[in-house]
Amino acid sequence: MIMENYKDKILISGAGPVGLTAALALLNNDIPVTLIDSYIDVPTDPRASTFHPPTMELLEKIDITEEMLERGLIVNKWQYRDRKKGVVAEFNLDLLSDITKYPFRLHFEQHKYAQMLLNRVSKFKNCKVIKNSTVLESYQDKNGVTIKYNENNSKTKSIKGKFLIGCDGGKSIIRQNLGVSFNGLTFEERFLVLTTSFDFKPYGFSGTCYISDPDEWCSIFNVPADGPPGHWRLVFPESSNRTQTEIFNDSECQKRIQDFFPHPNSKLYNILHKNIYKVHQRIAEKFRVGKIFLCGDAAHINNPLGGMGLNFGIHDAMNIAEKIHLVWTKKKNEDIFDRYDRQRRTVAEEYLLAQTAQNKRDLEEKKTDERIKRQKYLSEISKDNISAKAYLMKTAMFESTKRAKEIN
Ligand SMILES: Cc1cc2nc3c(=O)[nH]c(=O)nc-3n(C[C@H](O)[C@H](O)[C@H](O)COP(=O)(O)OP(=O)(O)OC[C@H]3O[C@@H](n4cnc5c(N)ncnc54)[C@H](O)[C@@H]3O)c2cc1C
Repeated sequence: MIMENYKDKILISGAGPVGLTAALALLNNDIPVTLIDSYIDVPTDPRASTFHPPTMELLEKIDITEEMLERGLIVNKWQYRDRKKGVVAEFNLDLLSDITKYPFRLHFEQHKYAQMLLNRVSKFKNCKVIKNSTVLESYQDKNGVTIKYNENNSKTKSIKGKFLIGCDGGKSIIRQNLGVSFNGLTFEERFLVLTTSFDFKPYGFSGTCYISDPDEWCSIFNVPADGPPGHWRLVFPESSNRTQTEIFNDSECQKRIQDFFPHPNSKLYNILHKNIYKVHQRIAEKFRVGKIFLCGDAAHINNPLGGMGLNFGIHDAMNIAEKIHLVWTKKKNEDIFDRYDRQRRTVAEEYLLAQTAQNKRDLEEKKTDERIKRQKYLSEISKDNISAKAYLMKTAMFESTKRAKEIN
């Protein structure tokens, strides 16, 4: 019988985009990894699709940006619109070309990103991906961490590792097991996402648009799909108690889009996909407990307006992987992991939760004077290059990246 060794690998619970990013970063430094996920194949439902410039810069370290650029869609402008008045402000990320090689948002579907990373990590001899297996619990002692899981969702097994990275999403069993609270709120309304092959670009829409309205806002963005012109996703708030069957009713969904943008040729939109999901703003009270770390949605969840959640998760993954490397090679002791908590939890609170909450308020503001004031502000700053650049530094995540580096 082979005795399992605590010290010979890092465990990662959850092979989603964040877990796979951490895995590839560790493997590139010759650190063995075992990932466990309950899926059989990477799920392909439409979720994140935006990669901000500092994320692209970080991902250069694991050598995947070239493939992302080949397959993704470059979006260098985004618009803030009013449902009735039209474009209120347009921000051009070219303004950041003096500080980054990536002055744009790269739109690239999350499932393609995850599959690309899964293909890469699977090539490493010191990587094991255990699929179709659900993590049940984890515990730690002074030597390392043990995970109990259901292999092929039938037989209970256990596995040991030196450290465990919990990347098992918003309902993280690792976080729950640690008794770490997930403070914040769940919004009353859900978000409805409709995907169409209709191309909005010839009608003046930039690749990302946020359209405010006190009754019903909409966010619309272009994703690469199988090639130009790609698909367009439209996100609407759904504040009723209707069932999914009622919400997904074809004529209801059609009406939703037509009410916002009557089809220019008086036709029906081709709706390819419908998705409804709950939205939260929550953060774990700790990102580190001993030898266990929380990353990505296991550590923080937020509304998707601004496309930041996955980006922050990737930054968490790269941060913890770097620190594990320093400890693995004995250049630092485990105290450095407290810095992971300080850096990532601080910026998640100060930037991720704050900015995404502001983005939602910008779209839904019901008070006319507040809405006009905010629109005036955004319109004015968009016309002044210095103010627009400062705003983009924040919304494109440069500020949070800088702030995290400054925290000791
Ligand atoms: C509709 C939608 C749109 C979004 N749009 C954006 C966007 O535009 N930009 C953006 O940045 N973010 C967006 N997000 C957020 C983004 O999708 C998440 O931040 C991202 O999925 C987080 O990745 P993750 O790897 O941390 O978690 P997940 O993607 O949730 O991955 C967790 C993995 O853990 C596995 N797992 C969970 N529990 C267990 C268990 N007990 N045992 C084994 N495996 C387990 C799951 O199978 C999964 O593979 C959106 C989210 C949604 C829902």
